[in-house]
Amino acid sequence: MNLPEAAPTRMLLDGQWTGGAGTFPVLNPSTGEPITHVPRASTDDVARAIDAAAQAQAEWAARPPRERAEVLRRAFELTVAHQDELALVMALEMGKTLKDAHSEAAYVGEFFRWFSEEAVRIGGELRRTPSGTNRILTFRKPIGVALLLTPWNFPAAMATRKIAPALAAGCSVVLKPVSDTPLTALLIAKLLQDAGAPPGVVNVLTTDKAGEFVTTALSDARVHKLSFTGSTGVGRTLLKQAADHVLNTSMELGGNGPFIVLEDAELDAAVEGAMLAKPRNGGQACTAANRFLVHQSVADEFAQRLAARMGALRIGPGTDPATELGPMINARAVDGIADKVDRSVAVGARAVIGAARLDRSGFFYPATVLTDVPRDSAMATEEIFGPVAPIIPVKDDEDAVKLANATEFGLTSYVYGSLARGLRVAERLEVGMVGLNRGLVSDPAALRGREGVRTGMRRRLRRHRRLPGNHLRGDRLVVVCSNNLVPASSCWPGL
Ligand code: NAD
Repeated sequence: MNLPEAAPTRMLLDGQWTGGAGTFPVLNPSTGEPITHVPRASTDDVARAIDAAAQAQAEWAARPPRERAEVLRRAFELTVAHQDELALVMALEMGKTLKDAHSEAAYVGEFFRWFSEEAVRIGGELRRTPSGTNRILTFRKPIGVALLLTPWNFPAAMATRKIAPALAAGCSVVLKPVSDTPLTALLIAKLLQDAGAPPGVVNVLTTDKAGEFVTTALSDARVHKLSFTGSTGVGRTLLKQAADHVLNTSMELGGNGPFIVLEDAELDAAVEGAMLAKPRNGGQACTAANRFLVHQSVADEFAQRLAARMGALRIGPGTDPATELGPMINARAVDGIADKVDRSVAVGARAVIGAARLDRSGFFYPATVLTDVPRDSAMATEEIFGPVAPIIPVKDDEDAVKLANATEFGLTSYVYGSLARGLRVAERLEVGMVGLNRGLVSDPAALRGREGVRTGMRRRLRRHRRLPGNHLRGDRLVVVCSNNLVPASSCWPGL
C-alpha cells in the first residue's frame, strides 16, 4: 500500500513546505521497509519556526475568538472529509488496524470541534477581596508560543489534542512528532493550513534527533510552553530541562493501568471490556489495561475466555482490512515486550497463549495471555505496550485496591463489578480515570490528566493575577466513566 498522493513529506514552516538538513526514513512496521523519507530539521529550522510562531502569535491572539473558532471548525470538517486518508497514513506508518485508525481519525476531528466551541467561551473571574474593599478581576491570555511533542501510538489524536486548545486560546505552535510517525502530523498540518491557519501559527517540524531539537527549542526564550505526551522517562528528563528555563509544562506520561475484575462482575462483560482495553491499538496505548487483577474465584475462567478471544485475533499488516492485530511500532518495541514476557515467565508466570516471537517480517508480537503472574515481575510493574495480558489473582477487593495502587503510574484503571461495589473500589484508586464496567475511557469532552475538556485550553492561557485556591492545582481530578452512570453515547466509542 502506498502513501496517499496528497500526504505531505516536507515540513510546514511559516506557511511554506520545506526540506531540512538531510532526511531520515519512515518505516512501515508491517514490513520493516521504508515508506518514504522526511526532512531532518536543522537547529536553524528550529529557530526559524520559533521566529515564525512568535511573529504570528500576537496577530492570531488578537483575532476575534469567533475567527479562531471558525478555522478550527473548518479543520474539523476537513478531518471528517479526509478521514480515509488520515486512517490510511496511520495504518501505514504506525501499523494500527484500519478499524483503530478510522476510530482515531474520527476522534481527532472531535478535538477540533470541541475546541472550536470552547474558543468563544474564554471566561474570567470577578471576586471581592475578603476585606470587601477591593475587586479582583482575573482574565485569561494566551501563553504564547507552545512547543508540542507527541508520541507515535496515537499520532493524530495526540497532535490535535494539543494543537486545538492552543489555537483556540490564541497560541501559536511548533509541533515535533516522533520520528516513527511524522507523516500523520504533516497531513494534519496540511488540513490546518487548508482550514485557514495563517502562516506561522502552526509549524510542524520533523527530526530523528529529538534530544538536539528539543534542547535547542527549550533554550529559546520565546517558547513559553512545553506540552509533552510520551514516556515517563523522557517526561522526567524534559521536566528537568524545563525547570532550568522556568517553563510552563503539561506532561501526559505513561501508564500501568489495572483492570480489576471483582467477584460479582459479569464475566462476559469483563471479557468484552478487556478486548477493548487490551488489544486495541496492539496494546500500545497509555490507557491500555496493563495488569488484570482478577478475583481468585474467577481468575482461571477469565483467563480461558480472554485467551480464546485474543488468540483468535487475525494478525496482519495494519492496512489490510481483515487485520485485527497489527505490528508493534518497531523492532525495539518487540524486543522490549519479549524481554518482559521472558523475565516474567522465568519467575513463574504461565503462558496460556502466545509468549513466543513470530517468524515473519515486520515488527510483530502475538497476542499473549499469562496467568499466575508474580506481583513483582516485569509484567506487573512495567508498562508493557503490547498485546500481552498478565493475570494476577487477587484475594478480595482490598487486595485488588492495594495492588492497583502499588505503582508510580496513575493514569487509567478499569473496574468490573456491581455498581455499588465497583464505585467503592473506583473511589479508592489513585488514578485520573476509571472505566466502571467500560473498557474505554477517552472522550474529547472528558478531562484527561490536564488535557481535554476546558482545562486543556486553560493550560494554554495564563492568568494575569493568580487566585489562591485554584482547584486545578491542589486536587486530584478523577473522571469515572461508566455505562451505569451515563448514557453510553456520551462516551466516545472509538478511543
Ligand atoms: P517517547 O517518550 O519516546 O517520545 C515522546 C516524544 O518525545 C517524541 O516526540 C520523541 O521524539 C520525544 N523525545 C524522545 N526522547 C527525547 C529526548 N531525549 N529529548 C527530547 N524529546 C525526546 O514516547 P513514545 O515511545 O513516542 O510514546 C509512548 C509513550 O507515550 C508511552 O509511555 C505511553 O504511555 C505514553 N503516552 C501517554 C499518553 C497520555 O495521554 N498520558 C498518550 C499516549 C502515549
